[in-house]
Amino acid sequence: MNDDTRTGITKNAGANEDSLRMVSADPISGEVLSDEELRPDTLDGFIGQPRLKAQLGLFLDAARKRDVAPDHILLAGPPGLGKTTLAMIVAKEMNVPIRITSGPAIQHAGDLASMLSSLESGEILFIDEIHRLPRAAEELLYIAMEDFRVDVMVGKGPGASSIPLTLPRFTVVGATTREGMLPSPLRARFGFTAHLDFYPHEELERLIERSASVLQVALVGDAATELSLRSRGTPRIANRLLRRVRDWAVVHDLVEVSSDDVRQALSLYQIDTEGLDRLDIAVLSAVVKQFNGGPVGLNNLSAMVGEEAETVETVCEPYLVREGFLMRTPKGRVATDKAWRHLGLEAHTDVSKLF
Ligand code: ADP
Repeated sequence: MNDDTRTGITKNAGANEDSLRMVSADPISGEVLSDEELRPDTLDGFIGQPRLKAQLGLFLDAARKRDVAPDHILLAGPPGLGKTTLAMIVAKEMNVPIRITSGPAIQHAGDLASMLSSLESGEILFIDEIHRLPRAAEELLYIAMEDFRVDVMVGKGPGASSIPLTLPRFTVVGATTREGMLPSPLRARFGFTAHLDFYPHEELERLIERSASVLQVALVGDAATELSLRSRGTPRIANRLLRRVRDWAVVHDLVEVSSDDVRQALSLYQIDTEGLDRLDIAVLSAVVKQFNGGPVGLNNLSAMVGEEAETVETVCEPYLVREGFLMRTPKGRVATDKAWRHLGLEAHTDVSKLF
């Protein structure tokens, strides 16, 4: 039990952590390797995002024909939508090696300088969460991206001097979930920027069918559709739910998995027909039942469901708002008619309370 002294509300037991993580778009522990086995390695094998694929395909073809390293590429979008996968595809399609790092892993500009100075010609440098690079590393990166040069410091103190080192042509592929946090000089150095969007159900369905064949799970009838509807538009979640369904099939000795099996397996994890888990439902129920539909502030709401405000704001709300269950208004969070109905109640949204 936790008490929130600001609100005077006693936190209840809160949502079950496992169920929350089942629909988290970030990888959960041990999942990075499982992600690997399901990554397509060609642009053709990458499902959905047709416009992005066409643009990127053209961009890479042109570089190949001109026999140069492609311009730097920025991939922006929420977690789990395929940014790392695309970076690896770029390397495969260009037939060049790829080095993988991330903003938080580079603690000092020197870490980045030594990485840059050991790049081979044409190599891809993938920097995940590029918005989290330290400032000094960011500045070093601008120069390296623009002039293919890095200034290496030699010596210490007043006698220190910098020696410019020319780098071979290489391509930075940066990925970010927070494009707005990238300083504009850095953003300006990317010749190609792609925004990944959440996947429509039909695309997720195809992705699930592909993953099912890799994992050798025989989905029949509407099983792939059932899974896609619960996957929150996110491939990583779709693949995770599929693996849990596979567990169910293995334990029950099923040769084929039907939509009914999917429903039963996922109800065990308390994921409902709209992809809402226990915490989402706890949030909606609190707004509807405890706060009579809202408006309610984030702190009161998170205290009521026994979760950190940040978790409610970054894990639950984006999906609830996107799917039209919740509105963020200047006065606080308000449940929509769809939320009332989803909870089996008569719709009750009072529009006068919104503004
Ligand atoms: P991000 O880097 O955006 O967090 P990843 O590239 O790691 O996401 O993708 C997460 C998982 O989803 C991986 O297993 C990947 O293979 C799969 N995936 C993502 N997008 C696609 C896609 N368009 N087609 C097939 N699989 C995908």
